[in-house]
Amino acid sequence: MIPHFLIKYGVANSPIDVGEYLVKCPSCECDEWADIMIVGNYYFFSFLLIFPCGKEANVICKKCGCKRYGAAFDSKLISNYEEVKKYYKHPWFTYLGVALAAFPFVVVIIYQLIVQVFN
Ligand SMILES: [Zn+2]
Repeated sequence: MIPHFLIKYGVANSPIDVGEYLVKCPSCECDEWADIMIVGNYYFFSFLLIFPCGKEANVICKKCGCKRYGAAFDSKLISNYEEVKKYYKHPWFTYLGVALAAFPFVVVIIYQLIVQVFN
C-alpha cells in the first residue's frame, strides 16, 4: 500500500515577492499606488514541485483599500510590467520535477555524443 500523502497532486501556490506599483484601481478608476504580492502557482506531485503554471497578483490599493486577489500579473495590471517582471521569477527549485524527469534523457544524449566523438 502506498500512503495517501505520497500520491497527492494538484496546484499549490507560494508567494514570490511583494512590491509597490502604480496600478489601475477598479474602484478609484485611475492609476493609484498599490501594494502587490506576486504569487506563483505550481503543479506538485507528492512532495515535489513539478513545474510553474502561472503567476497571480494580490493587489491592495493604497488610496481606497480596494483588495483584489488572484488578478492576472501582466501589462494590464502594471504599466511597467516588462521592466518589473524579471524581479518576480519562479524560484529555481520549482523546476526540479522537470529537471529530474529530463535527467535520464540528457544522460543518454551526452553518452551518445561521447560515443560518436570517440569512434
Ligand atoms: Zn483604489
